[in-house]
Amino acid sequence: MKIAIAGAGIGGLTAALCLHRKGFEVEVFEAVESLQPLGVGINVMPHASGILHGLGLGDSLDDMAIRTRAIEYRTRFGHLIQSDPRSVEAGFDYPQYSVHRGELQFMLLDAVRSRLGAGAVTLGKAIAAFTQDRHSVCATFADGAIAHCDLLIGADGFRSIVRRQLHPQEGPAHYEGTMMWRGANLQPAFADGRTMFIAGDHNVKFVCYPISARAARDGNALVNWVAEVRHDQPRAADEADWTREGDRDFIASFLGFQMPDIDIVQLLRNTQKITQYPMIDRDPLSWWTQDRVSLLGDAAHPMYPIGANGASQAILDAHVLSEALAGRDGPEGLLAYEAIRRPITTNVVLNNRKSGPERVLDIAAARVKGPEDRIEDLISAAELEEVAASYRQVAGFIR
Ligand SMILES: Cc1cc2nc3c(=O)[nH]c(=O)nc-3n(C[C@H](O)[C@H](O)[C@H](O)COP(=O)(O)OP(=O)(O)OC[C@H]3O[C@@H](n4cnc5c(N)ncnc54)[C@H](O)[C@@H]3O)c2cc1C
Repeated sequence: MKIAIAGAGIGGLTAALCLHRKGFEVEVFEAVESLQPLGVGINVMPHASGILHGLGLGDSLDDMAIRTRAIEYRTRFGHLIQSDPRSVEAGFDYPQYSVHRGELQFMLLDAVRSRLGAGAVTLGKAIAAFTQDRHSVCATFADGAIAHCDLLIGADGFRSIVRRQLHPQEGPAHYEGTMMWRGANLQPAFADGRTMFIAGDHNVKFVCYPISARAARDGNALVNWVAEVRHDQPRAADEADWTREGDRDFIASFLGFQMPDIDIVQLLRNTQKITQYPMIDRDPLSWWTQDRVSLLGDAAHPMYPIGANGASQAILDAHVLSEALAGRDGPEGLLAYEAIRRPITTNVVLNNRKSGPERVLDIAAARVKGPEDRIEDLISAAELEEVAASYRQVAGFIR
């Protein structure tokens, strides 16, 4: 069976590796002429990192990424609300990794090229449309070229052309009004060098974690951050562009944040390159698969970057797709894949709209009014654990 994948992002490349391991012939078509290591930090949750370890990529991950010890939820005054462990020491089979998205993408790209052959990924081939009959699919590219295959997987990201052809009536992206500024700065490590924290509340939030093992080996930290500020007047979702330069006015929203281990305002001021991107997703689809064509990753289930799930859910899709296709005929395998993954990812998308595990921030913000307040007097450990446990269930990573 020959499978074409549109998109060489985290999802498309992982799918190529998983499908190749099952013996399928795979070709990846990527729109951009030259891949650049774009983006900043992303997280690979324990269940998704297990899939990458299973592909023999564990050493490469350890060489470049940080094994995240825990996600700490904090108030704007620096109180620790909850520490949600993510490490092997805490009982997971595999670690959570925090990593530079571009480095992860290039590591996957190298693995695809070395295992599937140098020609397995063709750049500068933006899929424009497809047709299919009972036996095959014909993909047409923006430059007029065509490719024939048995199955087509649309892993072409948030603005997926494959999704648009499958669901032409779909409305605009959903934008609830939060703008995110991102950056990374090389500086001394904070906490134990393996801690991710999320501080503030639904309206003004700060996410921070180290992403580079190389920087850690040099005694430093490449500190990745995301600053989120909710606007009264949502802007157009089509502003979304991962390379768009951010203004610096948002820094004023964080002047009152006091963390015990890092000066947030200094970090923001020292960061050279800041980008901005709106928090957007799409309503879950009622189906992904049409005979020989299906969707994967952000093309299938774009979600708010809450609970650090975007890359992880794409990796899980890739694994399940390869398992579902093995031993089945193509269309039947695609339906089996969708039957497992669509309900799970639909739940994650909807749960993220309700703040997912970050709900503990809002619980704390409603009760903690100043630095002198004590969390343990105001919120019970059981209430906090209930939020974390229910999200672990939704996102599918269980200790
Ligand atoms: C440039 C960029 C930077 C990002 N930076 C961050 C970040 O800093 N933090 C974060 O949390 N998430 C970031 N993301 C999103 C994150 O990578 C995804 O949410 C997640 O990894 C799921 O991956 P995916 O493979 O489904 O989609 P993506 O990673 O978006 O990959 C989709 C791929 O498809 C390609 N493509 C698009 N249209 C076509 C087409 N018509 N034909 C062929 N190929 C096409 C794109 O160029 C891209 O390589 C970024 C995405 C991109 C594209």
